[in-house]
Amino acid sequence: QTLGDFFDDMAARQGDHEALVSVHEGKRYSYRELRREVDRLASALLGLGLVPGDRVGIWSHNNAPWVLMQLATAKVGIVLVNINPAYRTSELEYALNKVACKALVTMKSFKTSDYVGMLRELAPELSDAAPGALKAARLPHLRTVAWIDAAGAEGELPGLMRFSALHDSGDADDPQVDLIAKTLKASDPINIQFTSGTTGFPKGATLTHRNILNNGFFIGECMRLSPVDRLCIPVPLYHCFGMVLGNLACITHGATIVYPNDGFDPLAVMQTVQDEKCTGLHGVPTMFIAELDHPRFKEFDFSTLRTGIMAGSPCPTEVMKRVVDQMHLREITIAYGMTETSPVSCQSSTDTPLEKRVSTVGTVQPHLEIKIIDPVTGELMPRGSSGEFCTRGYSVMHGYWEDPEKTREAIDAEGWMHTGDLATMDAEGYVNIVGRIKDLVIRGGENIYPREIEEFLYRHPKVQDVQVVGLPDKKYGEELCAWIIAKPGQSVTADEVRKFCKGQIAHYKVPRYIEFVTEFPMTVTGKIQKFKIREAMKHQLG
Ligand code: ATP
Ligand code: MG
Repeated sequence: QTLGDFFDDMAARQGDHEALVSVHEGKRYSYRELRREVDRLASALLGLGLVPGDRVGIWSHNNAPWVLMQLATAKVGIVLVNINPAYRTSELEYALNKVACKALVTMKSFKTSDYVGMLRELAPELSDAAPGALKAARLPHLRTVAWIDAAGAEGELPGLMRFSALHDSGDADDPQVDLIAKTLKASDPINIQFTSGTTGFPKGATLTHRNILNNGFFIGECMRLSPVDRLCIPVPLYHCFGMVLGNLACITHGATIVYPNDGFDPLAVMQTVQDEKCTGLHGVPTMFIAELDHPRFKEFDFSTLRTGIMAGSPCPTEVMKRVVDQMHLREITIAYGMTETSPVSCQSSTDTPLEKRVSTVGTVQPHLEIKIIDPVTGELMPRGSSGEFCTRGYSVMHGYWEDPEKTREAIDAEGWMHTGDLATMDAEGYVNIVGRIKDLVIRGGENIYPREIEEFLYRHPKVQDVQVVGLPDKKYGEELCAWIIAKPGQSVTADEVRKFCKGQIAHYKVPRYIEFVTEFPMTVTGKIQKFKIREAMKHQLG
């Protein structure tokens, strides 16, 4: 089955049940309404001259047009390209040209980001172009740009279409849409998703209907989602976390999608959970920390919450315990995966004992295989020893977009995806992610997992958040460096931190460099870019 078929069946069954609430836009759709709007938009996309297999970009924060685009493109076999709203001109140029996008849907502006301005900088030809007939030197494939116009948005933007006008140009009963939908296969590409860029340049992973539809379904199963659930999704849709663990987990279970805000705002999340009586809440660890530590946290009622997922980067056990106790998220699980695997490979289910649920990434998802190997020899590691996490099965991407060489480096001849993550597995099959191979610090011959030191320092009462990296060192090969954010209103010194470590962790694990900062370099997904911490320190140390 394709996503389009699946969604149509679900919409027919769910009818007037609420499918989508976009709080910041003040929009609500039932499943029936959403299906009609999706069909109308699919017809409008065909009206632009797009055909199955063409690529269309979306460069926007979370909103109703985003999910409409996700479903409408899937319906007629157009490949949706998720573009990070934090990208600036050169990254946008790279992404659009890399995959030859013919159309782009974007916001006019957001806070200090002027999206249309950036586009015009790249393509000054836009101002004089007739809609659908853009010819720009630096964006040679792009023909159409639509801007997402909020209700009541005034004025026209030369050369750009209003998203609402594009949408309205379609026919919700266009027979062409169904004709095309019938020709699509589950193995067709549906999405090109760029990885987060945590370790360097983002890579475009080509994903199929089978990849992400199945993954979304099994994620929802692990969460026991059903139509009574209302899932609050503050994580970005441009990333698989929002798009698959959020949108698709809901749609495959007839549940309700709730977007609290466009950019992340902890207050809007808490207000939405309370007002919309959400039963689920997703987040990366930094989002949950921002909510828990918010000065107004105690004012909100979280009693409707039951489930949710924390994922994307290491999830400290302490933070998991706090969300269970203080946010009522008693069935929350950690999920582990990567863009290239649609994304989730491991996840606990709600009946996993609490202790395992907060301290491991769970067990392998149904219908997937995993193994943990020595990254050098490829031999299987004994249980409990750390090695590279590999996975095989329906979830493994089709490949990196038009990059067979990189694809071969990542997926071996037997179909195993080599993740570059280090993991252990216990006797019962519970997996722990101990870090990335790239982040492992080897100091004087000792392997040090930054994650372990971070978990330890996080327990210091004045420490709000901490990141540990390795820096090159003449004597020891590498030395440890910790960046610490103190709790609001608290001050803490490097000596205090060292004292805290003394006698508690081995001397070689005590960070040589300790810096206090107010924020970490982060991707929009809220992932911390350790390579930027390393670069900043190298700069500072000369
Ligand atoms: P890039 O590949 O561009 O450097 P990225 O790897 O962060 O960026 P994603 O595909 O968004 O891009 O993220 C997948 C990675 O996130 C995994 O490979 C893993 O390192 C990390 N990750 C995901 N979930 C977890 C988790 N629960 N615990 C620890 N790490 C996690
Ligand atoms: Mg990656």
